[in-house]
Amino acid sequence: MILGMKVRKQDLADMLLFKPKILEFHFSDSDLNLELEQKFEQRLIVHCYEYFERKLLDIVSLGETNQVHSQEKTIELIQKAIDKTVELNELFQGKPSIIVHPGGYSLTEINKEEREKMKSGMINAVEKLDTSKVNFLMENMPPYAWFFGGRWHSNVFLDANDMNDYCRELNLKVCYDLCHAQLYCNTKQISLIDQLKIIEDKVDHFHLSDADDIDGEGLQYGEGSMEFEKIIPILNEHKDKGFAIEVWKGHENGGKGFREFLEKITEAGLMVN
Ligand SMILES: [Zn+2]
Repeated sequence: MILGMKVRKQDLADMLLFKPKILEFHFSDSDLNLELEQKFEQRLIVHCYEYFERKLLDIVSLGETNQVHSQEKTIELIQKAIDKTVELNELFQGKPSIIVHPGGYSLTEINKEEREKMKSGMINAVEKLDTSKVNFLMENMPPYAWFFGGRWHSNVFLDANDMNDYCRELNLKVCYDLCHAQLYCNTKQISLIDQLKIIEDKVDHFHLSDADDIDGEGLQYGEGSMEFEKIIPILNEHKDKGFAIEVWKGHENGGKGFREFLEKITEAGLMVN
């Protein structure tokens, strides 16, 4: 697979030492003003901000609240990130990608009707975006996420079958986060390998970290319950696809956590080019 590194401007020099072919800039809302002063040999991915002015983006939002933007506002904010991606890409190679989290958040469990309403709002919303100059990648969600110090439910874009329907309908690819997928599988007692087989051909970029239980995210290789020995041979069939490691705080100390994960997964057989 093709090595991508998660990066912010302040740790660019450290991450370039990994000799990645892709740089994935994790945006916060202030990055709409990001300026870079060099040209890059890499391809660009922007990971869209999850918050804007301390409020969550949610492309399937059922209405604005104190903590979540409306669907209309979210579409506007994602478009701004897309436009910034296109502008920054003048310094990079090839067509840029943008990764977006769909939202679909609720503080409490919601009923089936509301969940269906969220799910069905996604296609229309994405169609309102101008994605012609980017490779637009929606990312699958974990079942639970921590925002504003509380545990939220994710209600859309968890299951590979839903993702597959989305891809077919919009003719778009996805970013597949294997850790998020494992957490989802753990809540449903289903197999990650089965899910991966359903979606693998629609994946453009992978996020990798270990996962445990229902909300243990971003763990170091081997510290969770992911069956890497079964996953790695499948990933190796996708040698032209990119991946980035998402170990929690992996960027610290010159990317120590990222390096450890990369060393362990390549030792276990992942082919990286
Ligand atoms: Zn991810």
